[in-house]
Amino acid sequence: MTHSVLPVAPSVDVIEKTFADLKARIPRQRALSAKERIAGLDALYREVWKRRNDLKTAMWNDFRKPAEEVDLTEIFVIKSEIKTVKRNLHRWMRPKRMPGGLAQIGSASWVRPEAKGVVLIISPWNYPMQLVFRPLIAALAAGCTAMIKPSELTGHTAQVVAEIVSAAFESDEVAVVQGGVDTATHMLNLPFNHIYFTGSPAVGKIVMKAASQHPCSVTLELGGKSPVILDDMRSFRDAAKKLAWAKLSNAGQICVAPDYVFVPANREAEFISALKRAMLDMYPGETSANKDYQRIVAPHHAKRISILVDDAIARGAKCVLGGDIETDSCFVPPIVLTGIDKNAKILEEEIFGPVLPIIPYTSLDEVIRFVNDRPTPLALYVFSKRKRFVDSILSNIQSGGASINNCVIHVSSNYLPFGGLGNSGIGSGHGEYGYLEFTHLRGVYEQRFDGAGALLMPPYSSWKTNVIDRLLRWL
Ligand code: NAD
Repeated sequence: MTHSVLPVAPSVDVIEKTFADLKARIPRQRALSAKERIAGLDALYREVWKRRNDLKTAMWNDFRKPAEEVDLTEIFVIKSEIKTVKRNLHRWMRPKRMPGGLAQIGSASWVRPEAKGVVLIISPWNYPMQLVFRPLIAALAAGCTAMIKPSELTGHTAQVVAEIVSAAFESDEVAVVQGGVDTATHMLNLPFNHIYFTGSPAVGKIVMKAASQHPCSVTLELGGKSPVILDDMRSFRDAAKKLAWAKLSNAGQICVAPDYVFVPANREAEFISALKRAMLDMYPGETSANKDYQRIVAPHHAKRISILVDDAIARGAKCVLGGDIETDSCFVPPIVLTGIDKNAKILEEEIFGPVLPIIPYTSLDEVIRFVNDRPTPLALYVFSKRKRFVDSILSNIQSGGASINNCVIHVSSNYLPFGGLGNSGIGSGHGEYGYLEFTHLRGVYEQRFDGAGALLMPPYSSWKTNVIDRLLRWL
């Protein structure tokens, strides 16, 4: 059964009615077996697959995303997430028997995973399908109904996402509400049972504040600056290639993109030359004419990046690779900066674009201090063949996730928790971790026959005082 796609920026009445329908369905949704939930996920993927070409066209129109990257970073990710859920959902949903202690003699206890209820999923534009459907898959696996708000900045894709959902689900099971900040604000006033937000730290704070009205739990998948630390390695070729890919894919618009790189000071020139070669090999010729090179999502974001670069250069930075930023056509070429003043804005704000600052270092302590003086990063990258070097970084710098001798790829695992810490987020998604975000773990206790507790109720006669005393000493 299908329903029609809701109009963009619907009225408050429509949003409230949609919410009421999603809420009314909860008892039925919660009771779905693993098999029935999986059937829903299969229906979702069938509709995605049917619209594979529509998605490619939409993402090209939104920000010239290469078709191959729609397959690799959107459709493949969804398929693989569904596969993981299908393989494990029966096990995840099973109530788990728990052991008891002295106070629970005569009882049984277990944990019952239960759907939280109606959930809100708010998504950003940088992976405009994946970041909507990955949390949705987890919500449906958990037995929730969901209202989704895709980003208004990738409107072509949001429309295809809405069509997919309307073809795969009934309107009281999953509803896509398209719109901008006003629409999101109306949605945030509703008493959802969980909000899964992916986006900037600034909006994450607004979401958290709104959630406190009812209150409800939140998952905040936020952003920030993810540093890279290079050890004094024999060759930088491998690291340079991986960094070039991680920084330029999606034109650097990745929440876990390497944001800046620490290089041993005496090897800076060597690394820059390897990095430039890797970037030019990956995107040969005139970058603006290269069909594999993506655009920035909107002129105001291209402008934001241009301001960061101009500020760094005005403070003395040198552009060792780059060209003109064309804000109107949203084109930002690969840019590598050196000699950056420590107070430059580019070392404070998340770059979220194809610009890579290089910072030379002479001691690991100074690197650790620099990163720890800033908000906790979403990802931390170390390139080294020395275990001691890696261990020292992992134990001295906190981050949401970390990757050794690679960048960004850790996000693709359905078995690792993916999430931030502090300014980079709260909670984790992917695989079972995503399922758990939408699940309430209900502890159930059943008294089968009375244990010692029943004997130790008031009035406290002297023998009871004695038993309590012995109990404490013995325990
Ligand atoms: P954003 O915070 O501007 O917008 C995200 C969503 O929130 C959009 O749907 C938008 O319409 C909505 N929104 C904007 N203002 C709002 C408000 N005042 N109230 C309620 N909703 C509002 O982020 P963006 O520009 O779309 O995405 C880029 C950011 O997202 C970066 O910081 C990036 O690091 C982060 N990000 C994080 C992850 C992750 O998994 N941790 C993934 C992708 C992007």
